Amino acid sequence: MGKALIIGCGGVAGVAIHKCCQNSEVFEEICIASRTKSKCDALKEKLKDSKTKIKTAQVNADNVEELIALIEDFQPDVVLNLALPYQDLTIMDACLATKTNYVDTANYEPLDTAKFEYKWQWAYREKFKEAGITALLGSGFDPGVTGVFSAYAMKHYFDEIHYIDILDCNAGDHGYPFATNFNPEINIREVSANGSYWENGNWVETRPMEIKRVYDFPEIGEKDMYLLHHEELESLGINIRGIKRIRFFMTFGQSYLTHLKCLENVGMTSIEPIEYEGKQIVPLQFLKAVLPDPASLGPRTVGKTNIGCIFQGIKDGKEKTYYVYNVCDHQECYKEVGSQAISYTTGVPAMIGAMMLMEGIWKGPGVFNIEEFDPDPFMDALNQWGLPWKESFDPKLVD
Ligand code: NDP
Repeated sequence: MGKALIIGCGGVAGVAIHKCCQNSEVFEEICIASRTKSKCDALKEKLKDSKTKIKTAQVNADNVEELIALIEDFQPDVVLNLALPYQDLTIMDACLATKTNYVDTANYEPLDTAKFEYKWQWAYREKFKEAGITALLGSGFDPGVTGVFSAYAMKHYFDEIHYIDILDCNAGDHGYPFATNFNPEINIREVSANGSYWENGNWVETRPMEIKRVYDFPEIGEKDMYLLHHEELESLGINIRGIKRIRFFMTFGQSYLTHLKCLENVGMTSIEPIEYEGKQIVPLQFLKAVLPDPASLGPRTVGKTNIGCIFQGIKDGKEKTYYVYNVCDHQECYKEVGSQAISYTTGVPAMIGAMMLMEGIWKGPGVFNIEEFDPDPFMDALNQWGLPWKESFDPKLVD
């Protein structure tokens, strides 16, 4: 079918690349390009028996000219951005210059402000439209599958959706007192920020971890979960018919929260540079360097994740509730692709999003959030590629 350029070679990219290689009819050839080329080469070596032809390259994705040269040389049908949110705009610029489709899993965030919003990427809508290319934003799990679940609920089960609660539970245990399951810098910026939820067209802001609930997760059991701001709230607030409120909850264990509080209290989570032995360092980036690499958690993480959405709304004049979720087992992911479930649940939808554009099942042109496309082929692909979903029409609600 075609060629994909994958930028980044960390935890999420590792899974997406394994999945592209399992899907060699669509991904005939891929190029893995990242800052550290040795990681790309090591992964290529691991996947040498795959039918997908693999190339590797070194690239600094902060540099548009380098990206353009790489895209012109490889001529991919799609660029799958699995580097960090800081690189979204430079990669989108390179896609525009070369008229190449674009997919990512996280919205742009400036390096010096811990604030992620879609406004920077939505500003590219006209330019992508004029260039006749498609950008698919947020094709991970959350954002990503949560948007597909929302579009699916809206298409099949509701005339109007009034309330959405997105519940992200990780009941995995890696045995460390403190570690993050994906890039520590991005993860800590997200969870130490103020929380917020979307209600009647406005954002309601909360202090970090201010709102706590306990939920009895299918196949896992009771867990404490906390309200966070999350990027898909912004696009779902616009794209879902009749919506009144959307909240996002994530589970955290007590050990994680105690460590985080302590690190915050001593200033280690700050993104303000400080002077240290004549050098400027950012405390959070230094913390990242001493924490376990999320990619190394795979062999030691046991337990499951459960991520899904609970919808409340109206169908044919009657009130209705619907819960759709995926349960993923850390050890099974590790056996299959050598990684824990957090990277797995993000890497699989990243591959599927790229596939939707490569096969022309989802077409632009323009810049789109995932819930703007027909959810059915994506829902089928989730079942096929390792993230089967389950549904309930009588779920316990979150108060
Ligand atoms: P990692 O830190 O494991 O990997 C990031 C990769 O990007 C590394 O290979 C890194 O290179 C590379 N990279 C960073 N900067 C550059 C640059 N300037 N040029 C080229 N390559 C660069 O992160 P994850 O795999 O955990 O996360 C990847 C993305 O997925 C993030 O944007 C994250 O926010 C997103 N994500 C989305 C989720 C969702 O559900 N939607 C869930 C989890 C993550 P190097 O090896 O040299 O460091």
